[in-house]
Amino acid sequence: MKRIILLASLVGVGALSLGVAAFQQPPANPNAPKVVEAQKLRDNLYMLNSPGQNGGGNTAVFIRTDGITLVDTKNPGWGQPIIAKVKELSPKPITQIINTHTHGDHVSGNVEMPVNVEVIVQVNTAENMKEMRGATGIAQTGPPTNIFKVNNGRGMPTKTFKDKMKVNKGADEIDLYYFGRGHTNGDAWVVFPALRLMHAGDIFSGKNIPLLDANNGGSGVEIGNTLEKAAKSVKNIDTVITGHSTTMTMADLAEYAQFNKDFMTSVQAAKKAGKSADETAKNWKIPEKYKGYAAPAEARLKANVQIVYDETK
Ligand SMILES: [Zn+2]
Repeated sequence: MKRIILLASLVGVGALSLGVAAFQQPPANPNAPKVVEAQKLRDNLYMLNSPGQNGGGNTAVFIRTDGITLVDTKNPGWGQPIIAKVKELSPKPITQIINTHTHGDHVSGNVEMPVNVEVIVQVNTAENMKEMRGATGIAQTGPPTNIFKVNNGRGMPTKTFKDKMKVNKGADEIDLYYFGRGHTNGDAWVVFPALRLMHAGDIFSGKNIPLLDANNGGSGVEIGNTLEKAAKSVKNIDTVITGHSTTMTMADLAEYAQFNKDFMTSVQAAKKAGKSADETAKNWKIPEKYKGYAAPAEARLKANVQIVYDETK
């Protein structure tokens, strides 16, 4: 009996630490209360998150003239809590969703939104959402559930773009960009020009080493260039919403681009020098000049080194 209890508590601790390491995954306990907090960034734009980020990625609520746009919809079961919070902010209906990429902690609430809602994504993300493959480097306890299949396709994309698309007009305009592979092969950059604000999604999840999801087209060789393109070509932005952290600035984004380019350069040099991927991961440290960057989990660091090795011929 004692042994069973010990085993159960060990499993519990294991699940908890996995949840922290793999912070872009659904929470270990889906029955925990779903608390959504709104942070006002502009008169008509709010960021919704949850304490400890257990709800998933940051959601943006854009209150337009004739309805509401959501950017990202969090983990499974978080659609209704998002809807309830939005009702406190505005009586207007949710008519439009933009998903920054395919991951379950950014798209799953889609299935709880009004049936006729417009869902806009980058074209590669639309393909990825048909499969809902598990992410590289995130432990799977079984085959990943395709939440859209379970819900008969509800919440799937209704409109796609390739490199650039404008939606809505005047003060309601949203500009969508795709600058190349990074976190996945379908990371959308969502710009609100009237508000001088951009939602970057998980290609800039925060100041940390990125999750590179090779299963969904992510790239350790391309991510730095893609981030740099965004930092250089999108103008007139004061506020950047990150995938899972606080808001940041375009200067932070430019720095993050360089951080990723530096990572790739040093890993490629180590490969060229004949070092094994494990050795390279063990020796890598966050360069001095990058202050405030989170120390990487060992598994994430190893996975990213391996991805750069695999992509470097
Ligand atoms: Zn993600």
